Amino acid sequence: MTKFEELGIKNPILTALSEIHFEEPFPIQAAAIPVLLSGQDVIGQAHTGTGKTAAFSLPIIQTIVPKGGIQAIILAPTRELAVQITGEIQRFSRHSGIRYVTIYGGQSINVQFGELERGVEIVVATPGRLIDHIKRGSVRLNNVKYVILDEADTMLDMGFIDDIRFILDLVPKQHITALFSATMPPEILMLAEKYMKSPQRIFIDADDLSGEGIEQAFLVIKDREKTDYLLRFIKENKAGQTIVFCSTKDRTRRVAHELEKASKLTVVSIQGDMSQFRRDKAMYMFKKGKADILVATDVAARGIDVPEVALVINYDVPSHDMVYFHRIGRTARAGAKGRAITLVSYSSIGDFKAISSQTKVAMRDLNKELGIEVKIPDPLKREMPQRRRGYGGRSQNWGRRRDDRRGDGRRRYGNDGGRNYYGLRSRW
Ligand code: AMP
Repeated sequence: MTKFEELGIKNPILTALSEIHFEEPFPIQAAAIPVLLSGQDVIGQAHTGTGKTAAFSLPIIQTIVPKGGIQAIILAPTRELAVQITGEIQRFSRHSGIRYVTIYGGQSINVQFGELERGVEIVVATPGRLIDHIKRGSVRLNNVKYVILDEADTMLDMGFIDDIRFILDLVPKQHITALFSATMPPEILMLAEKYMKSPQRIFIDADDLSGEGIEQAFLVIKDREKTDYLLRFIKENKAGQTIVFCSTKDRTRRVAHELEKASKLTVVSIQGDMSQFRRDKAMYMFKKGKADILVATDVAARGIDVPEVALVINYDVPSHDMVYFHRIGRTARAGAKGRAITLVSYSSIGDFKAISSQTKVAMRDLNKELGIEVKIPDPLKREMPQRRRGYGGRSQNWGRRRDDRRGDGRRRYGNDGGRNYYGLRSRW
């Protein structure tokens, strides 16, 4: 008997799992599958990469009835994640005769009408477009038995909370809900309290701010020197693909262009200004290994699973520590080894320090290793004011803007005079 069989999974799913070499359940699957099969709600605190897609998809595929109408709604924050979930469902259900559709804004609604009309049992959707379909009557919720909220905290951050409530209010009372979230801010806990029935809580990697399995390094340099080092690190990376994260659409465009010009590698990029078609094409090329480098804004950071990514480079320091961990989590997937390098401009040293204090593994200091001098006094030893922290380890400074181009951070360092990095007078 395979381990998946012991959890209650039956054929034809077992055949599909063995064909795709899922030999042993991951911890989140071992914990969540029996609970969902028994009909109980689940709250899972787990990052992407832990195997949560199979944890919620396998019980759905096993219990829904082919041609029985829409029986499962899976909500995801981004189109990329929704497409990825459907891809996994396709692999698990290849012998099960069930049908599914991905519904997201940016794709022609008529294409989606066609697929819905032919009949599906599982709908994977971003919240806004699903509401469009519900209002137009092309999605009916009266047969729904499963509602999955994937990356609930990201949906919250993206302002989808009212859309989620709208959808949950319309689903028949008798259904199973599973909510997955990397963090549990109060709004998510309130949502769970209102809409879930005595959910079983599963904490898989609540402590996963370690970046374990990922070799992390940083290099402090001037902003204008970043591209040279970026190229150097990419050229040195022989192990697999690279993702480069930038803070803005403009920087993403520029960095992708510069990399393309300066290397013989194939570069694709994803940022919010691109049409859905171009984003899908870029993602497709990267996933299929037809592109060596993906340059992206944080849109791509969440939920994207590309097993071959060997190196993540933060061209810009992320705006938030959680974003950092989501970004570097694109490498070292499913137990593989990976590397992450963060390029820290002088004006971002304070932000980076706040992030590095959250990691539990020692970071490699590339300034020391490569003998690159930091031309400001002792920046990494400078004390930063402690960030306020809320539920789930989030700090409370959402939306604060950083701009590497303003260059004033350096001036402040150079002219310290008892002031800290932000130019505030130190209390000491
Ligand atoms: P997820 O967190 O669902 O995005 O899964 C992360 C990666 O792990 C995906 O590439 C999955 O296909 C893979 N994966 C999930 N469960 C298993 C398993 N039991 N055995 C092998 N690979 C798995």
